[in-house]
Amino acid sequence: MNLVLMGPPGAGKGTQGEILSKRLDINTISTGVMLRTAIKEQSEIGKMAEKYINDGKLVPDDVIVSIVKERLQKPDCAKGFILDGFPRTIPQAKALKKMLADRNSKVHAVVGLEVDDNELVDRLLKRGKESGRSDDNLETINKRLEVYHNQTSPLRDYYKQEGKYHAIHGSGSIDDIFESIKCSIAKATKE
Ligand code: ADP
Repeated sequence: MNLVLMGPPGAGKGTQGEILSKRLDINTISTGVMLRTAIKEQSEIGKMAEKYINDGKLVPDDVIVSIVKERLQKPDCAKGFILDGFPRTIPQAKALKKMLADRNSKVHAVVGLEVDDNELVDRLLKRGKESGRSDDNLETINKRLEVYHNQTSPLRDYYKQEGKYHAIHGSGSIDDIFESIKCSIAKATKE
């Protein structure tokens, strides 16, 4: 089962990805986590990505695609994976399609967590206070939401056309949202 978790910043991709990962016994691959680790280690990629992240912009497609490609080649991904935060642009989605097709595989389902902007801003400001994430401040949050609406939300139509997009209402309790995700995955695997 190869799953993509989509949604704006603060929609709960990380939280739901973690629960799904335990239930399905497959790993979650979060590009955000990978980039923050690279920044902490001050690797070449980390140094390069830091500025984009702090400005609320996307890291260039070629950089992120090569990180994901390398990660998906690791043996643990053979039995499936959950992608959190990738793809975020149409070129990234096309690159993902190609790298999976090259090994006779594909994305089975895309779960889109949908939450309105006001709630997202509240959640991210709260997270910023608790986690100290450098991009969870009002200015960067607004930029990230703008980037999401311009560059990432077109992916909904892209995956709808492929018949893979499952919209999930992302407000409410973590358990209720997880139940909705579970139902839509069950439906997707029967199709
Ligand atoms: P959030 O969903 O809350 O924005 P993430 O941890 O997924 O948090 O991403 C944080 C930042 O990392 C993004 O704002 C962006 O700069 C960078 N990033 C993560 N994934 C990608 C991606 N697929 N393409 C480009 N940039 C990315």
